[in-house]
Amino acid sequence: EQSMSEPVLLKKSNKLANVCYDIRGELLQTANRMEAEGQRIIKLNIGNPAPFGLLAPEEIVRDVAMNLPEASGYSDSQGIFAARKAVLQYYQAKGLVSATDVGDVYIGNGVSELIVMTMQALLDDGDEVLIPMPDYPLWTAATNLAGGKAVHYRCKEEDDWQPDLADIQSKITPATKGIVIINPNNPTGAVYPEHTLRAIADIAKKHNLVIMADEIYDRILYDDAVHIPMCTISNDCLVLTYNGLSKSHRIAGYRSGWLMLSGKKDHAQDFIEGLTMLASMRLCANTPAQYAIQTAMGGYQSMQALTAPTGRLCKQRDLAVSRLNAIKGISCTLPKGAFYCFAKIDRSVYPIDDDMKFMMELLIEEKVLMVQGTGFNWDLPDHFRVVFLPNLSDLEDAMDRLERFFAKKRLEF
Ligand code: PLP
Repeated sequence: EQSMSEPVLLKKSNKLANVCYDIRGELLQTANRMEAEGQRIIKLNIGNPAPFGLLAPEEIVRDVAMNLPEASGYSDSQGIFAARKAVLQYYQAKGLVSATDVGDVYIGNGVSELIVMTMQALLDDGDEVLIPMPDYPLWTAATNLAGGKAVHYRCKEEDDWQPDLADIQSKITPATKGIVIINPNNPTGAVYPEHTLRAIADIAKKHNLVIMADEIYDRILYDDAVHIPMCTISNDCLVLTYNGLSKSHRIAGYRSGWLMLSGKKDHAQDFIEGLTMLASMRLCANTPAQYAIQTAMGGYQSMQALTAPTGRLCKQRDLAVSRLNAIKGISCTLPKGAFYCFAKIDRSVYPIDDDMKFMMELLIEEKVLMVQGTGFNWDLPDHFRVVFLPNLSDLEDAMDRLERFFAKKRLEF
């Protein structure tokens, strides 16, 4: 006699209750379905340079290929020596004095893995982390996944998206463990001046916060923008610097990033022990991709040719910004770094309640895929992010469609 019990529903864990990552969410799934049906979608949703013909420097690809025979084993959990040494030297050349040891560097499978590892090592249930709003949503997701609480501080659009220091101050509680800054910023393209970084460093010092500086766009700068690494500003707190080769060297698929510890470390030995243990639990980062790091860090930076005024990325930025600002009720600031615009929708012209639904309509009606502002933890349904990686003619095409879409949705007065 067989007992046939109903299978118990397999539900996702409660840990995922507050975890959200819309950049690869429902919109992308719909776009993929449409593509499978043979429709051509213009994808302005993901900061992945290679598919847009922004190819990796040849020396990087050759370097990885040449080292493949040597790279078939696990490496040290924190990464190969040459890569970690090159990372240290990169920041020392920019004025860092407090990190002196390759033991301060962890190589990871992209910055993403290191963000998740940091939050798992740092947070107990209910611990708070200050995260910019809008943000790159992995920071919020990783905080919540680790049982922490993401507390968002406002960046001010009217001030070229600079962090609101008073808002940061007002949101510090006894449970605040750390503060995240993303500079240059995704999704806004803001680059922070020295006085802003110093002010954040002072707040962090006063409240004994860990500073987590995501600087993955540090070599993607336009006009006269200069990037100042946070690790060269703050010596009085533990500073965690995150960076990698996904964007600057267009090898997002290799998964190559790093985390460097600097500043005050004596009080943080227990946390560092935890981080090191998590690094060893996942054995090591993809070894072949680690061989690209030393070559990438030294000498000529090929990104400069793309971001110079005559370069492809700069021209694409200028086109995206001017076409967006020409649409009635749409405005956007000029990005100084990275490759995104975070455009504002005037809701008195376009009455939107659900910005994800609005972006879904854009996808279905005009076959353009973009991510809604609330996907970046923005608190109102009145923004969207444009990735300006496509070449000028594809970008023109996308902007024509966008213009047509907004013209249809506009309230008539
Ligand atoms: N941090 C920011 C601000 C990003 O925009 C991205 C990717 O878009 C990442 C981190 C993740 O990068 P990685 O490819 O190194 O995991």
